Amino acid sequence: MSAASSSNAVPEGGSPQGNSQAGGAGRPAAQAIRLLADRPAYAAPPQPVIQPLPRHSPAVGGLVPFSTVDWPGQLAAVVFISGCPWRCHYCHNVELQTRAARYDWREVRAFLETRKGLLDAVVFSGGEPLSEPRLPAMIRDVKRMGYRVGLHTAGIYPLRLADVLRHLDWVGMDIKADAKGYDDITGRRDSQRPALACLTQLLSAGLDFECRITWHPDWLDESRLMALARELARRGVRQFAVQAARAAPGAPVARALSNQAQGELRQAFQEFSYR
Ligand code: SF4
Repeated sequence: MSAASSSNAVPEGGSPQGNSQAGGAGRPAAQAIRLLADRPAYAAPPQPVIQPLPRHSPAVGGLVPFSTVDWPGQLAAVVFISGCPWRCHYCHNVELQTRAARYDWREVRAFLETRKGLLDAVVFSGGEPLSEPRLPAMIRDVKRMGYRVGLHTAGIYPLRLADVLRHLDWVGMDIKADAKGYDDITGRRDSQRPALACLTQLLSAGLDFECRITWHPDWLDESRLMALARELARRGVRQFAVQAARAAPGAPVARALSNQAQGELRQAFQEFSYR
């Protein structure tokens, strides 16, 4: 959340009010001032709620008001949905595994209204955002505001993905492992099946998407990782990222992906990143 302060340093809607009343239709500068004045008043990012929200409230578990990394190339706010049926042993968002509404979606929505023109997009992340039954309505809300919409998913809910796919502009999809290793990572049986169904949908939708894997050689050795990556490339995946597993953000990597493997992956995909 700390990155948010950079965007919050740009106040809007306060001082120009008097100028907008001065009229000046037809003058570009005056029009710009009026546009700013017509926006909802500047708002600080919403804070977690203290009172429990009604049962039907969307399970918003977190908010990053400004991010440059959650959708590469886009300035985005990130809305974290709380709830995930999987139990990946490396999960860094354990507090988002259990469904709970910690932020009031109405406040988040009002905040996003004040960021129009400053942000390109809203990314729904998690937890697993598709675990939220109200996600389609939330997506419509932010689309109506003119934002592009991104989704981070582990591919747990193919039917729900199918429901929202046409409203999405970009997806970052986790690939957990190869067939042999999937359930060991997720702690759930037969977990690769829905993920493959989601991948198939993304490929046939022609949507802009990235597949990424959180990788540690003890979980999947390099030769298995490369076989998995070749299979993804063969199926038509164009963007692939290997995210080195770390004990904590910024901590050193135990054993890095070899230069040879990185070279091959750069050849195999239109875009490849090792991060
Ligand atoms: S799918 Fe994501 S949120 Fe769910 S347990 Fe795994 S890493 Fe955590």
